[in-house]
Amino acid sequence: MMEPLKPGDTIGILGGGQLGRMLALSAAQLGLRSHIYCPEDDCPASHVSTEFTKASYTDDHNLKQFASSVDRITFEFENIPLQTIDTVAQLKAVCPSRKALEVTQDRLTEKHFLASLGIQTASFAAIDAEADLEACPHLTSAGAILKTRRFGYDGKGQVRVKDRAQLQNAWNEISKAPAILEEIVPFKFEISVVGARTQSGETAFYDPPLNEHRNQILFRSTVPSPISESTRAQALEIAQRIADQLDYVGILAVEMFVIDRGSEHSLLVNEIAPRVHNTGHWTLDACVASQFENHIRAVCGWPLGTTERTADAEMTNLIGTDFEDWCRAAKSANTAVHLYGKNQVRPGRKMGHVTKLTSLTKGR
Ligand code: AMP
Repeated sequence: MMEPLKPGDTIGILGGGQLGRMLALSAAQLGLRSHIYCPEDDCPASHVSTEFTKASYTDDHNLKQFASSVDRITFEFENIPLQTIDTVAQLKAVCPSRKALEVTQDRLTEKHFLASLGIQTASFAAIDAEADLEACPHLTSAGAILKTRRFGYDGKGQVRVKDRAQLQNAWNEISKAPAILEEIVPFKFEISVVGARTQSGETAFYDPPLNEHRNQILFRSTVPSPISESTRAQALEIAQRIADQLDYVGILAVEMFVIDRGSEHSLLVNEIAPRVHNTGHWTLDACVASQFENHIRAVCGWPLGTTERTADAEMTNLIGTDFEDWCRAAKSANTAVHLYGKNQVRPGRKMGHVTKLTSLTKGR
């Protein structure tokens, strides 16, 4: 068992983007220090952390120095090399575990893991070689999506295809990287379950938001979402099962497709994220303890804070030039503005988010 950390101790965070920034801010709120490790200079988290190391994820010397200087280690994105985790784990405990990272870094491993728990996903086929392109049952008239097994996020490494010729081109486009071909799911809408689990197995989940994507990038998350109590219970039970099976410590997000089955909804899991998640940003303003605070609490071995909602909320990402709108959002009533301090606006880049709060219409 890991000993609980004390106020004044230091959390080491691998990764320096906006998620690391909001984790470091929550750590500070709880009287903890933070040390960000990131290969890029001037990253968003470095502006608000106690210490910052700029070095690569393969730099053993700097990784060991970083691990020696902190009391516990976490990460803010799932593409940290496993080798990096192995290096720092020799010196300090890492939460969530290597296993959570290993399962979720590879779409095929993740799909097999979900199947082993009896959790449904879109049907898929592994694409490892030219021969796999020939016999693909998932390439129906509705089309399919080719996704790289690794390093995909915000729609990167994904190509929609309609026929075999397009599939061949798409595979060339992703440099013939190992991939999966997934059926296009005719979902009604998307939700996600964001929740925390502690080392002792205590869990707390947030209300599942409705998530809207544009160009495969999250555009908006809204709570409450239009799901029934039974769908909500089913969604939380799926997330609980995943967290328990991974012996998970920290915040976990499970993205789901909601499918209409007559008067009922059924759920397919799209993706697991072993980290704080964009669809949980609204918790900063609409919950007593945000996802960032609960991640830090879980990693420290502290009790979880309440995940209850105190308001209805609509979180909208400021993507690329949407960022220029921040001033208008800042003038809107009951709207919290969060800007990430990124020094360059680029198309598709998440620059900040705004959360509009309204009075609670549906409690739990
Ligand atoms: P992902 O990176 O897999 O989370 O995909 C990003 C977004 O693309 C999802 O949130 C969906 O909006 C869309 N998407 C991904 N996979 C599928 C699928 N199999 N069927 C329909 N839409 C999908």
